[in-house]
Amino acid sequence: MQRQLLPRQVDARKLTSTDVRVSGFQPVSEFPRFVAGLHDAEGEVDVEMHFFRDESWVHRISASLSTEVSVICQRCLKAMPLGINSNFELAVVWTEEQAKALPRGLDSVILGEEPLDLLPLVEDELIIETPYTNYHPVGECQPEGPVEYGEPEVGEVERENPFAALRDLKSSD
Ligand SMILES: [Zn+2]
Repeated sequence: MQRQLLPRQVDARKLTSTDVRVSGFQPVSEFPRFVAGLHDAEGEVDVEMHFFRDESWVHRISASLSTEVSVICQRCLKAMPLGINSNFELAVVWTEEQAKALPRGLDSVILGEEPLDLLPLVEDELIIETPYTNYHPVGECQPEGPVEYGEPEVGEVERENPFAALRDLKSSD
């Protein structure tokens, strides 16, 4: 099956009323607020959205997204891969009153007569799902420049060990 772009805008009322699934991708570079926290704008975001009306007749979107991006390791400041897979639920409403009547914990989008912009919804979820700080697994940080005499990261870990040993001795006194 050929992959297609996720539409930027949809007629939410029409889609939820007819129970439709929409899927597609967008380049990571289409999400500038998300990219601001990344190492680079490489990659694509795959999105699936199910538009339907639930048992209370509320207009709903049940969505999932997945992507692999590069974030910055806060220890070595080099790129590291981060996979994001997430599901999220939204209600689409047209008045404040409708939003207030929703079950607790169900996020809502309040629309006027304009179509629903899908990219900001996806972008908000991407940002929520990205950890604020990221680190390579211990020992996998990339050393600065060519390594000739062993890795500084290892030395740092070794320096910490005597203190840990000392603490152990004291507590067993
Ligand atoms: Zn690192």
